Amino acid sequence: MAIDLHTHSNASDGTLAPAEVVAEAAHHGLTTIALTDHDTTSGWGEAAEAAVRHRLSLVPGVEISTQHNGISIHLLAYLIDPANPDLVREMEHARASRDTRMVRMVEKMASAGIPVTMETVLAQAQPGATLGRPHIADALIEAGHVRDRNEAFEELLHDRSPYYVHHYAPDVVRAVRLVRAAGGVPVMAHPFANRRGRTVSDEVIEEMAAAGLAGLEINHRDHFGPERAHGQALVERLGLFATGSSDFHGAGKENRLGENTTEPAVLAQIEEQASSGVTVVRP
Ligand code: AMP
Ligand code: ZN
Ligand code: FE
Ligand code: FE
Repeated sequence: MAIDLHTHSNASDGTLAPAEVVAEAAHHGLTTIALTDHDTTSGWGEAAEAAVRHRLSLVPGVEISTQHNGISIHLLAYLIDPANPDLVREMEHARASRDTRMVRMVEKMASAGIPVTMETVLAQAQPGATLGRPHIADALIEAGHVRDRNEAFEELLHDRSPYYVHHYAPDVVRAVRLVRAAGGVPVMAHPFANRRGRTVSDEVIEEMAAAGLAGLEINHRDHFGPERAHGQALVERLGLFATGSSDFHGAGKENRLGENTTEPAVLAQIEEQASSGVTVVRP
């Protein structure tokens, strides 16, 4: 069993279609993946169909944009009811805010002489995809301004950049409750990934746990030895489980499918805790 519980398709900022992510995963010998696009479940149908064809198990999921006192937190949510009105409203709000934020970031960059327009950014995204900074990065690569997404983030798109603009995201503690109310299982993505920006204190994770958080994504490439040890101690103290995953984005990032994996017993807990009626798609 090789289980990877965090992947992206071009329904958000991955470069492969949902069916292609599934095909890649099967090709790499994985038995189970979760599709967890940012703030959208629109890739589920195509991924589920492909999973049956490629004899792979699919965990329908999403990576919800949230924040706490302005610090960005990504919340993975597995097996949610994709039609739950409160959750849908929050994701729609975040997606709409990502659109207007994108216009503002592109305006700031274009005024500084950086070769980017909304047309060139949208040319990098599927129609209806959740827009993110990686789409700006891809437009800058296409324009020959940077070599890759990593260079784009390091030079222009990071959180402290003069071109950075925030977007709306619900408070993480409320989001944890919304995921549980939608029958899903909430897991905090890359909780200690401090190279990407600020991370929250253990007290916030305690509050999340009290609100119904199920697990922490400890085995992630943005965590090194000390962060993994700290995370392990925290899950034991708070009665959570630990997951591992690749955060695969296709060609856009170095992350390889299955580079970190999750124990089958943890997937079983996720399935036991889910109450939405949405289940793991098994071939
Ligand atoms: P946004 O959704 O606009 O806040 O952009 C954040 C997304 O960009 C994250 O979900 C990552 O997938 C991606 N990202 C962050 N840092 C990098 C990087 N250095 N290289 C490539 N992608 C990145
Ligand atoms: Zn992403
Ligand atoms: Fe993330
Ligand atoms: Fe992600």
